[in-house]
Amino acid sequence: MAKLRTFYIVLFLLIISNYVNAQEFNFKYTKGLSIEIEKQHFKKAMESFNNIDSTTIKVIYKPLKSTGAARPTFFSFFKKPSKRIYKIYLNTKCKPNNLICYTNLSDSSKYGVIGHELSHIIDYNTMSSTQLIGFGFKYIFSKKFKHNTEHKIDSIAIMHGFGEQLYQFTNYIFSSENITERYKFKKEIYYMSPDSILKLHNKHFTGN
Ligand SMILES: [Zn+2]
Repeated sequence: MAKLRTFYIVLFLLIISNYVNAQEFNFKYTKGLSIEIEKQHFKKAMESFNNIDSTTIKVIYKPLKSTGAARPTFFSFFKKPSKRIYKIYLNTKCKPNNLICYTNLSDSSKYGVIGHELSHIIDYNTMSSTQLIGFGFKYIFSKKFKHNTEHKIDSIAIMHGFGEQLYQFTNYIFSSENITERYKFKKEIYYMSPDSILKLHNKHFTGN
């Protein structure tokens, strides 16, 4: 039994290590993005989080299967929050029939995506190393856990003032004809709907 558990832990670490390290070297900015504007988006978004200042975050623009993702680097799994390095990946692969790329989003939607990814980091910073490893395991293998996590992350982003932009981004995904049904289905299963985002935003900021 113990051997089996060790096997799964090693397997998990290998998966995570590939997951992260394989992407580390493709540090490219695309022609369609202004780095200065991107820096401004992040600077502005960071102001909404007062407990993220000392966290090291690297932003990497590269082709992805989703719009964005946020993860600790491999060795950061074994470090305390203040010593960790996190990476935020933003999708630059824009296919005409599947426009889930970050590059083509409006500034407002981009801001919503950044708020969501930074909220993941806020969440990671509340976890010890053991909890973070357990989290990674559950996120990969449990659909229900992934659903609960993404809803929690959307809620954190809304509470930090990204509700309207997150609504615009989510609404764009569902209303665009150039986004595959497969991606919309994935979005529907794991993330908050535009209606839920607005409801939570209004409840938190206007009390209605
Ligand atoms: Zn997320």
